[in-house]
Amino acid sequence: MLLGGNLISSVEFHSNMSLVLFMVGCPLRCRYCQNVELFEGGNEISLEEVKNIIDHSSEFIDAVVISGGEPLVQFNHVLDIFNYTKSIGLKSKLDTSGVYPEKLKFLLDSKKVDFISLDIKAPFSKYEKIVGQDIGGNVKDSMDLINKYNVKLEARTTFVPTLHTKEDIKHIVRNIKSDIYTLQQFRNRCVLDPELEKVENPNAIDLKRLAESLLPYFDGIIKFKTAEFGEQIVNKG
Ligand code: SF4
Repeated sequence: MLLGGNLISSVEFHSNMSLVLFMVGCPLRCRYCQNVELFEGGNEISLEEVKNIIDHSSEFIDAVVISGGEPLVQFNHVLDIFNYTKSIGLKSKLDTSGVYPEKLKFLLDSKKVDFISLDIKAPFSKYEKIVGQDIGGNVKDSMDLINKYNVKLEARTTFVPTLHTKEDIKHIVRNIKSDIYTLQQFRNRCVLDPELEKVENPNAIDLKRLAESLLPYFDGIIKFKTAEFGEQIVNKG
């Protein structure tokens, strides 16, 4: 498999220490992407080597997170890694753009994934305009599928001021079903589209206000994530 790197994190799987593996490959080209180095290249690494990385970290971690890129490009390897993760008693989490609902269904049927973070990058009907590919239907299918299984779901959006309006964010929240919704701060450094480097990062206070304005429209937990303050929950009342 092709891996772009790994790290230990306390924030990728809430309340758990996790080993995060970054898989190479992605069919999308989001203008605000900061993971351009994961589009291609990476290190060819065997399953045995990945197992060794997990074993060496297992004393410190509760979970393995597979991120990307889009991990489901290397679907068979994701399944192999989660099979091993669960066999040694660790939790498992997948980060995905939701572009491959059929592959996701295989993974859900395997019952080897405990938690999924699904990017909802735009209102489903505005994917072509905001993301550049008309895949809103795939993402909605992925969300609906996850909700049919006993798997915790976080939906998340990176708020890019020149691509999204605040109404877009409200529209997203009104039309999703998930346990958690996380609003992420756009960062203008090292993004795919150099035009976006001129766009100011939304400040933490404005992002918090936007997250608070979503409370009437969402039953689950709402969070916002900024470089300044990390991840914070927005309290009701
Ligand atoms: S932001 Fe994620 S889904 Fe979009 S191009 Fe980058 S890696 Fe792919």
